[in-house]
Amino acid sequence: MINLSQFSSFFVANWKLNGNLSFIKEYIHSLNQNSANANCIVICPPAIYLSNFKGNANNFYLGAQNISKFEKGAFTGEISAQSLHDFGVNFCIVGHSERRHYFNENDEEVKEKAFKLLENEIVPIICVGETLEQKQNNETIKVITNQILNGMPNQSNHKNTIIAYEPVWAIGSGLTPTIEEIDIVHKSIRNISKNINNYKIIYGGSVNSENSKDIINLSNVDGALIGGASLKIDDFNKIIA
Ligand code: PEP
Repeated sequence: MINLSQFSSFFVANWKLNGNLSFIKEYIHSLNQNSANANCIVICPPAIYLSNFKGNANNFYLGAQNISKFEKGAFTGEISAQSLHDFGVNFCIVGHSERRHYFNENDEEVKEKAFKLLENEIVPIICVGETLEQKQNNETIKVITNQILNGMPNQSNHKNTIIAYEPVWAIGSGLTPTIEEIDIVHKSIRNISKNINNYKIIYGGSVNSENSKDIINLSNVDGALIGGASLKIDDFNKIIA
């Protein structure tokens, strides 16, 4: 399993349902080769394309966007953690708000999936975040704390699991919390328990080449989960620089 402590910052590109073969070829060719060694770059393409990165992943790691909570069996269309491991995948996003919203994924499933990933030496990137309504009701910290306490398996620790704070209302909207708000939420996550204090905690939600520096420079932020801007290679290169 990858040792997370060797990196100071994580940059996770979530392509969602985007990309094709020629895009991948161009992307790999153009990806910044000079990002600092302490930066861990993770590319999460649609699962069908993971094999097209094989042999090219010199300066980045491969991530998946989802896995099955099942190991094997009659579950048509599912992909197991074991299969991802066979493909050399080191990271996997779980509990993304799009999966919670469109596919009714709940904390219990997030926990089961993260457990399966850990069993297969893949780092789960567990996404948590409040909706706009929850934010307006001052429920952000309560919601996130519950998602973490209910969605994180007992086997998780700061060496094998990443937490991603992604306010639902900030994803793909061009809106972000203020720098102070991001700092407060990340600090609050660290304060949930002594154990969680040392976790790598990354921020996601409309990160772009203009706001990334201020966000990453926060001492409680260990990197970014990037959707839209990760599909524009020039922007992504600027962010990881
Ligand atoms: C995401 O998909 O997790 C995400 C943060 O998307 P965007 O950067 O486009 O807001």
